[in-house]
Amino acid sequence: MKIGIISGHHFPRLFKNAESLSLETPFGTINVDVSSLEDNVLFFINRHGTQATIPPHNINYRGNIYAFAVSHVDYILSFGTVGSMNTSMKPGDVVVPHDFIDCTTSRKKTFFDEERFHVDMSQPFCPSIRKTLLHSIHKQKGTTVVHKKGIYLTTEGPRLETPAEISFYKHSADIVGMTLAPEAILAREKGICFASLCLICNMAAGLQKALTAEEIAAMYAQKKTTLSTIMKDACLSLPANKTCSCHENVTKATL
Ligand SMILES: [Zn+2]
Repeated sequence: MKIGIISGHHFPRLFKNAESLSLETPFGTINVDVSSLEDNVLFFINRHGTQATIPPHNINYRGNIYAFAVSHVDYILSFGTVGSMNTSMKPGDVVVPHDFIDCTTSRKKTFFDEERFHVDMSQPFCPSIRKTLLHSIHKQKGTTVVHKKGIYLTTEGPRLETPAEISFYKHSADIVGMTLAPEAILAREKGICFASLCLICNMAAGLQKALTAEEIAAMYAQKKTTLSTIMKDACLSLPANKTCSCHENVTKATL
């Protein structure tokens, strides 16, 4: 199988002897690291660019997903760090979101600028990837607490949220981040199975004293070996024969 992975962090255990390719897309050049894992071919894209310098609102979301589509990946596994708005979800826990809310405002998040299509998001994430990720997390039998469901609210960024915004958002969602919604939407438009693994690095604004970038980096450093193992196991466990309907959710609008 061909498996795409998109993240802002590298997974050293997963990508050994990767070959770096530059793929030309209608949205610009996208750098992809290609490697093999047993019988699978892995395609890795750092959503923040090769130097990890592109802020969330300027990420080339369409270019990234288009690069996966022309590489004919069967699945896309996303990884992201998030803040928690739910007091039962703590820093260090992982979440496999089952739904999302898109509060972004300035991003290009459709491939259908010229044609009318109906894109069903009734089940926003691929059930097969979610099931596989949860199974791979449980196999670790470690200290990582997993939340099998969670609603991810995507903000525009690049600033973090205010306490009043979090107070408003927390009635509708559990975790907050800046990247999931455009990626999930664009993958669905291309008919590619997509789901995400999220690491909670902090409580959101107003639920802890202050938020720092160092805090996020420290939490990822603490968990990266476990996360890398989970992602590797998930890549090896994804079903070759799909039973999901992710590729059937786009239909041309009719009169
Ligand atoms: Zn699927």
